[in-house]
Amino acid sequence: MTAVIHPDIRPRINSVASDDLNAAERERIHAKSALFAPPEARLADGRRDLVGLSREELAALMTDIGEKPFRAKQLWHWIYHQGATDFSAMTTIAKPMQAKLAEHFVVSRPETATEQTSVDETRKFLFRFRDGQEAETVYIPDRREDRGAVCISSQVGCTLSCTFCHTGTQKLVRNLGPAEIVGQFMAARDSYGEWPSPSADMPRYLSTIVLMGMGEPLYNYENVAKAMRIIMDGEGIALSRRRITLSTSGVVPMMDRCGEELGINLAISLHAVTNELRDQIVPLNRKYPIEDLIAACRRYPAASNARRITFEYIMLRGVNASEADARELVRLIRDLPAKVNLIPFNPWPGSDFQPSSRAQIAKFANIVMDAGFASPIRAARGQDILAACGQLKTESERQRRTAASDT
Ligand code: SAH
Ligand code: SF4
Repeated sequence: MTAVIHPDIRPRINSVASDDLNAAERERIHAKSALFAPPEARLADGRRDLVGLSREELAALMTDIGEKPFRAKQLWHWIYHQGATDFSAMTTIAKPMQAKLAEHFVVSRPETATEQTSVDETRKFLFRFRDGQEAETVYIPDRREDRGAVCISSQVGCTLSCTFCHTGTQKLVRNLGPAEIVGQFMAARDSYGEWPSPSADMPRYLSTIVLMGMGEPLYNYENVAKAMRIIMDGEGIALSRRRITLSTSGVVPMMDRCGEELGINLAISLHAVTNELRDQIVPLNRKYPIEDLIAACRRYPAASNARRITFEYIMLRGVNASEADARELVRLIRDLPAKVNLIPFNPWPGSDFQPSSRAQIAKFANIVMDAGFASPIRAARGQDILAACGQLKTESERQRRTAASDT
């Protein structure tokens, strides 16, 4: 006779097994991430960049040069609240000390290789880092109010190869470091002159962050987490965790950590409602199928009615955009505080997909809305400067190729 597991026990057995599995998977993800580590944030002359260090690391560096750790608090204020990049502008620090700091350290930004502003005011930055690698950042202003989202990259390239995404056709070059991730936001803010950091009750132009640029942020979790902690620190940039959204294609074992440790908002790049289709277009699904992904969303601690999980859904003609798909989507997310962003597919040269028609997108949106979920249709912003979703890497690669063919 086969042993029968009592139904009340089964879930516990499964969850213990899946905890172990998740821990092992997390180890594997960290080990792989370390292979693509960013270079140390240091100039050729040996001076260390102070951007991207935690408060503790900053205090330790002060001790190293024979100074009191309280200097770290002063520096934090100047770097992240005032936006100073020059020690001589740090007027609460005595001149000899300013000179000593400048001997050992710098406060830097990524170099802005190009900066383009769209007719719809979207601004795209191509940032070049110390080792010559580049990543793009986009500022998308709100059309009605003086506020907007900064779309930040977490990696140069991506290991995953979602079939509709041009970034996915690029090999992962490397992870971005905390200085490079925070630096994208700070450099964008320089461009709009939004320093010192506005206080909590004041409006901000660069008011939200979406980790939706190049790369998979949960495959570079440690660096992303460190950068977000710096950005959320109340004595510096002080952006609330409620104003930060991390988008993932579904790295399930890292989702719990992100929720527990950072408590930021979560967006899931779902794009398909059956494992059969999602296996094909978001290949990570073969590892973490839809049911595991939805279960991880249910566990996500920051999710509540006030802070819904966003599901991103690209509308691909004849592939995933039927009314039956819409009904299955609402069935999948029925017990979650969720909203669904419908993204018209942005085609790129060589892609096999076509965008769905406006009429089809509207039909799909109505089914989702009737089920009680907000389902905004995301307008592509900054298309004239190739700043829309899925277009980022396309342009920077083309530019590099042109440069190479010029030589
Ligand atoms: N790697 C993470 C973060 C990138 S977010 C993730 O995939 O979630 C970038 C968003 O743009 C994702 O939702 C992605 O699926 C979407 N996207 C990629 N290519 C696109 C395209 N050609 N048209 C529209 N959206 C696209
Ligand atoms: Fe990578 Fe996200 Fe593009 Fe997929 S959609 S290839 S995970 S950047």
